[in-house]
Order: sequence, then structure tokens, then C-alpha cells
Amino acid sequence: MPAHAHATLATPETHKFDAEVDKIFHLVIHALYEKKDIFLRELISNASDACDKLRYKAISKPELIADNPHFRITLQADAEAKTLTISDNGTGMTKQELVDNLGTIARSGTQNFIKRMTGDSKKDAQLIGQFGVGFYSSFMVANNVRVISRAAGQKKTHIWESEGKNSYTVREAEEIRPERGTTIILEMQDDALEFLDRYRLEHIVQTYSNHIGFDIFLANKDGTEIKLNEGTALWQKPKSEIAPEQYTEFYRAISHLTQDEPWLTLHTKAEGQISYTSLLFVPSAKPFNLYHPDRLTEVKLYIKRVFIADNALEIIPRWLRFLRGVVDAEDLPLNISRETIQNNRTVFKIRQSLIKKVLAELGKKSESEPENYEKFWANFGAVIKEGLCDQFERRDDVLEICRFRSTASGDKTTSLKDYAVRMKPEQKAIYFITGEADSIASSPQLEGFKKRGIEVLLLTDSVDQFWVNVLHSYKEIDLKSVTQTDGTAFAEKPEQGDAAEQAAPETAEPAHIGAHNAGELLVFILNTLGDAAVRDVRTTRILTESPVCLSVPEGGMDIRLERFMYENKQLAKISPKILQVNPEHPIILKMADDLAAGADKAKLADTAHLLFAIANVAAGEPIPDIAGFTRRMNGLLGG
Ligand code: ADP
Repeated sequence: MPAHAHATLATPETHKFDAEVDKIFHLVIHALYEKKDIFLRELISNASDACDKLRYKAISKPELIADNPHFRITLQADAEAKTLTISDNGTGMTKQELVDNLGTIARSGTQNFIKRMTGDSKKDAQLIGQFGVGFYSSFMVANNVRVISRAAGQKKTHIWESEGKNSYTVREAEEIRPERGTTIILEMQDDALEFLDRYRLEHIVQTYSNHIGFDIFLANKDGTEIKLNEGTALWQKPKSEIAPEQYTEFYRAISHLTQDEPWLTLHTKAEGQISYTSLLFVPSAKPFNLYHPDRLTEVKLYIKRVFIADNALEIIPRWLRFLRGVVDAEDLPLNISRETIQNNRTVFKIRQSLIKKVLAELGKKSESEPENYEKFWANFGAVIKEGLCDQFERRDDVLEICRFRSTASGDKTTSLKDYAVRMKPEQKAIYFITGEADSIASSPQLEGFKKRGIEVLLLTDSVDQFWVNVLHSYKEIDLKSVTQTDGTAFAEKPEQGDAAEQAAPETAEPAHIGAHNAGELLVFILNTLGDAAVRDVRTTRILTESPVCLSVPEGGMDIRLERFMYENKQLAKISPKILQVNPEHPIILKMADDLAAGADKAKLADTAHLLFAIANVAAGEPIPDIAGFTRRMNGLLGG
């Protein structure tokens, strides 16, 4: 090779790390320093993923592994050179892949994750536990990291190198890596030389990486090797042979939730009509990307122990996306394509079977450990409730494991089953209110319910607005919004009803306001506000403290949902509501008196407009006609 070509070949290109990588470095070094040994787990896990990926590619391109079909991971420690080397013969990386994969953090949600960092290393260490720092953890122990990689099927080898400060270099290697795959050489820091000790390495591999499905060897100086792990995928072993710590380590490795404990471990083997093994975990902590817009599931699909896909939505629905783990199917062809996975009957059956199992197990936990279940529900309840919108997937079973806050549940939650037990004999429906957590409990719509001791579910998750509109009953009991009921919830009469009302049908609205016929004031308010603003004005029994509130007619759309759909341009306009008037409230009584006495109509009209504004605010709606509101308010305040 001519000298100048040689020079070009070896000239390293210098790249700056992405700003995010820089921050991750900082975190790794300051927040994780007590747990240095995890670097090895992360690198071995990457090596194993690289083998998985190539084994999958080789299904359609067997020539990629023709040189050596045996996947393996090798560690080598050199005490004199102070280096630790981790090699794999997996898929390897091209130059571009080295830049893309090791110079940036492509994982979704990284930005948000970094924003949540506090600078307090204890708290941040826990957050990192939910994120997983992967490759970058090598800079906890190394001064210099060199990644020498040759992608399977490619001829060139490239070297990525960094001291972990702001930049890294990439260059084409002069020497071709003899085999496909990746070698990572760590030049160890002086305080990390313990990781060159073979017993220490052996111990770390056995603690963290025993479950890896590929053989891991430790190479000795004399060229001999010892095998450090069993090389059997953990989920393939019988439950009785797996210690709880092994499940935990596997969970941490597969989920990147490096410091979390599984809240639930579900290891099952299905045989018969469909056969598969699943090892699924529910995290104790909330993963940082639970609400990423992609809402991907993170359960890995294997077929006959061959890794197929990372986010197999066909196997686990989005509303169970907090699950981590693997599903290994027996009866699927290895060369199954993305498209065929979607329409495959076996895949569909596995999905149904997994959903059934997970729901059954969660159901059991909710009964046997209600306190513990509260924790789970606080983390993942809102995700599970997305499943209520899907009528084909055991919606009734999903509803059984749901828990809700209610006006009677205190700081705990209740199931619908328990709510049903507490229902009043004359109560016809399960009532709920949707809205913001801090305003909902003081909503005027709840007043009559509270007074009569009728329990109302307080639904404060955004998903609640959706499922309450597709699911209308629980075991033949209607589910009803308090904004969708007028007075019919209160079939029994309120204590202070007057004689005329007692004679009226049980559900009728009060016909009098003080000594006056209610109709006059109601018509006055209706005419004042106009039917573009309100569709009706009625007296009601649902209020005890407040003068007014808004409601929608029977069967109408919940107020919060309508607003949401309008804001998302799924509705052209907001429909006029019913203004409910409390006939016993002093303001209303005075209005009726004033109207009957022929008082100034303009003043009465101002009061009607202000009351309407209050009703809107209490329902979480914007104030209608801000200019008018301001003028009237100023007038009221004497301005
Ligand atoms: P993660 O493994 O969570 O994706 P890492 O920072 O550990 O994050 O690694 C980033 C990416 O670099 C990996 O997703 C993978 O594409 C690539 N990578 C890392 N190590 C290897 C390896 N040994 N062989 C091939 N690719 C690798």
C-alpha cells in the first residue's frame, strides 16, 4: 500500500459527542460510582444482543455466519497492560453505526429523562436505574475505551476510541479484525484494577450474566479458556432451578431498569394447543418512557430460542406496555416476517393467552395483597385503563382489576365490585366525575351526592375521559357521569322537601323557588343567556352548597370529553349545556324575590350572566364572554 494511502486510512476523524451523551457521562460518573461492576453486565448484554441480532439476520442470509455458526463472548484480562477486553462475534458495526450508536443516544425519551435529573446523586442514581446507561458505563472504570468492530458481511474494520471527555475518534483499522463482531478494549483506571482479577470477573458474570444464552469464556494468557456461564437462556430452565436473585438479575438486564426489583415475576410454560414459554415482569418503579408517544411494548419475542423482535406489539398489547421480559414461541416459523406476524393465528392465540394469564395474576394479587396492589395501581393503572377502550380484549376482566378513587375511598382506591356492594338500595347507577385531581373533589356536581351519601368515583387520569365513553356498564349496572344526571340519581326525597314536592313524582325537579313558581326565574335566565349559550335552565336537587352548575342531557357527551375532542379538532363546536339551579340557594331565592317584585332587570341579568360564568369555571370550562364578565364583575365590585 502506498504511504499516503496508508496515512489517509489511519487518520482518525474526531467527532463531538451529542450533548445528551455528555450529560449521561456526567451522571454515570457521579451518580453510579458505588456500583461500578455493572459496567460488565452492560457490555456483556450488548454483546449478547449483537449475537441475537446476527442470528436473526442469518435466518434469511445464512452466508453471514458461514465462517462460524457458534456465537460466543470472550473476556480477557491483562494485568500488565491494565486492560480488560470483551469480544463477541455478533453482528458488529460499520463506521456509520459506530458513530450513530456510540456517539448519540437514540433511545426514545432520553431528553425527558435528562430533564428530570436533579443533581442530587442519590436520587439521580435511582433514575438512572430506570434508564440504563449501557455502553457508557464503561467510562466508570476505564480511562480509555477502544471499540474495534467489523460488521458481519463487511470487509473493513473500524476503530472507535474515546477518553470519555467531549469527543471520540473513528478510523479505519489497518489490521482487519479476523472475525466479524466487536472487541471492546478498556484501559482500566488505577482504582478499577480489581476488575482484572479472574475470580472477580467470574463472580460478576455469575451474578449478573449467568442467564445469557450464549457461552461466555474467560481467556487465559496461555490460550486456554474457561467457561463462565451455563449458556442456557434463563426462561428455558425449570422454575425450581431458578433462585429469586437470578430472576432479578435477568429482569434488570433485560429491562435496563438496573436497580429495580420485579414487583411481579410471571414465568409460565404453555403446552398443548399453543406452546410457548414466557418470563414476564412487572416493574416496581415506573419506567421513564411509559408515556412516550410510541407507547411501544418492551417484551422481546423469541422463536425457538432465536431472538426475533424487541417490541412485539402483536404479542403484548400497548395497555400492558409496562411489562418487561421475553416470550419464546415454539410453533412459529423462524423466517416469519413483520407482516405475517400481524396476521398469524398462532401469534394471536399467544397474545390472548398471555393477556388472560397476566390479568388473572394481577387479579389474584389485588385480592391477596391489596396494599401492595395500590402501589402497582399508582404506577400503571392509567396504562391498564387504556385497555378498557378495546372491546375485544377481555374488557370485563380488565375492569375487574381496575381501582378507582372515590368520595368514599379516602386515600385508598376501590374496585367496582366493592362499590357495587356499598350502593344504596335505591341507587340505579355507578356514578363518576372526571376532571383535574385538585378541583374535582370540590365540584358542585358532587354536592347532592355527598349529602345523600351516594359514592362517586373520582376519575382524574386523562384516559378516563375515553373509556367512560365506550364502556357504559359494569355487570349490568349503568356507569354514569354526574354531569349527565339531573336529579334522577336522587330518587329518594331530600329531607327538607316541601309538601308540593313530596306530592310530585320522585324524580321531578323542584317546581318552586321560595314562595314563587320556579318557571318565571328559569325562563328569565334562559332568555337572558340565550339558547346559543344554554339549552335549558332547570331547578335541581343535585346542589346543596352552590347556586348553579352545568350538566348535559341524558346520553350527552361528558363535558370534559367534549372539551378534549374540541381542542383536538375532532368536534367543530361545543354544545350548549343545561344550567342547573339550586332553588334553595340564597342568591337564587333573592333573584326570584327581586324578579317577582319588579326589580331592575338589567341588574338581574348581570347576576344571571355571572352565575353562568361561575358554573362554567366549576365545570373546568373557560369563562364565556370575558369582556362582559369583566364589566359585570367591576360593576359588582363598585368599579
Ligand atoms: P442500548 O444497549 O440500551 O441500546 P448502549 O449505549 O449500551 O444502549 O448501546 C448503544 C448501541 O450500540 C446498541 O443499541 C447497539 O446498537 C450498539 N452496540 C453496543 N455494543 C455493541 C456490540 N458489542 N455489538 C454491536 N453493536 C453494539
